[in-house]
Amino acid sequence: MGFDYLGLSEDLLTIVEESGYTTPTPIQAKAIPATLQGRDILGIAQTGTGKTASFTLPMIDILSQGRARARMPRSLILEPTRELATQVSESFEKYGAKSKLTMALLIGGVAFKDQEQKLDRGVDVLIATPGRLMDHMQRGKVMLNGVEILVVDEADRMLDMGFIPDVEKICQAMPQKIQSLFFSATMPKEIKRLTDKFLKDPKEIEVAAPASTAQTITQRLCMVKGGEKEKRDALRQLLKSEKIKNAIIFCNRKSVVKILAKSLAVHGYSVGELHGDMVQSIRTETLAKFKNDEIQLLVASDVAARGLDIPDVSHVFNFEIPNNPEDYVHRIGRTGRAGRKGSSFTLTSPAEKKNLSFLHKFLGKEIQLHELPGQAPVQATERPAPAHKKNTPKKNTPEKKPSNNSADVAPSATQKENTEKAPQTKEQSKNKNKPNRHQKSEPVIGMGDHMPAFLLSYEPLNDKKD
Ligand code: AMP
Repeated sequence: MGFDYLGLSEDLLTIVEESGYTTPTPIQAKAIPATLQGRDILGIAQTGTGKTASFTLPMIDILSQGRARARMPRSLILEPTRELATQVSESFEKYGAKSKLTMALLIGGVAFKDQEQKLDRGVDVLIATPGRLMDHMQRGKVMLNGVEILVVDEADRMLDMGFIPDVEKICQAMPQKIQSLFFSATMPKEIKRLTDKFLKDPKEIEVAAPASTAQTITQRLCMVKGGEKEKRDALRQLLKSEKIKNAIIFCNRKSVVKILAKSLAVHGYSVGELHGDMVQSIRTETLAKFKNDEIQLLVASDVAARGLDIPDVSHVFNFEIPNNPEDYVHRIGRTGRAGRKGSSFTLTSPAEKKNLSFLHKFLGKEIQLHELPGQAPVQATERPAPAHKKNTPKKNTPEKKPSNNSADVAPSATQKENTEKAPQTKEQSKNKNKPNRHQKSEPVIGMGDHMPAFLLSYEPLNDKKD
């Protein structure tokens, strides 16, 4: 779909074309028509998703009717930093090149006088940081009772920077009947409180971070030979070997969510489940418990996953490769949010070969392989190395434990190839003769060799339910 169907004016379509945009980004496709219809917007999106154009373009068309009065801006865009405010003003200049709209930028570090002169002449669009705007308000140089559209951009950064009380005061100074657009990369409870208070039946739009910007997320792929039982074993190994604060484990089907959650509970994990079959009150309660760290693991389906607002998840596990590769980006985007570090592990079995190659095509690269603990002489915490070299055990490494467990992880064709070709990493060669906790001399406790009896009877029972 091109821009033609979004309802923008001919002038804007020309500008968009001149900017070299051929297809609207997901947030633009959803936010532009809704904004033009006068709806409030709650956009969960971060920089790089094209969100600036998603609010500036419709604003230009909406504001093209009407005139600005002295000191009474017709629209206000709040940005947390001077840099962002300046960037948005540049976008406005670019997209508004064919319009007669006037604009003022109120940021710190610039003389008040110039800003006041602009305000006196009347502006259609006021772009400001909260502190400087409050200063002007207190001096009586700007009044917000003429504002028709309010944009609060990067709300979670405003929170981090301590601007929320100012933002709230500014929102309270607005007329009752305004159109409000809120954008935030995450939805911590303080922002939720604000949006609940000031937005009227908003259109909620959530877009995943673009794959290229999710650089704070480590992505790993674990090949598991067998079916769901083996995957559950593998998952528990990861849960033991990783330093997990909290984690969301995604499954493709509700039935798998239920079984996995039960299985983890039997194994003593603090776990909750979230899927579309549950009543809303329980979903809300489970989510609240997860957010408050009352439960550590949340097993969820994709339906329940969208719209989750958990700001700080240390790990995401994909128990299965999603059928829709875009969901992979959504899922892993639940960790590593707002610049924090996050880890994601995707478990895959040979039956998912098709989905895996589809996913790799979508990502434009292969996810780096990760050997499950107890299987490989290389530890997962090693310094990053090129995908084809990292975590690749030497074929027939003498230390490798020839236990039942070794059948749990099957090298894929690619893995085998890499295993045969890849030279040892520096670290591997250095540590060649050092004992490793995954080596035979120090077997992993609690997994494989030490499988409790109750578990063995539990698993097949549940497997039948699939
Ligand atoms: P933003 O998320 O608003 O900071 O935008 C990120 C970058 O994407 C900016 O450099 C925009 O110029 C660019 N951009 C915005 N919309 C589109 C589009 N539909 N197609 C291609 N690039 C875009």
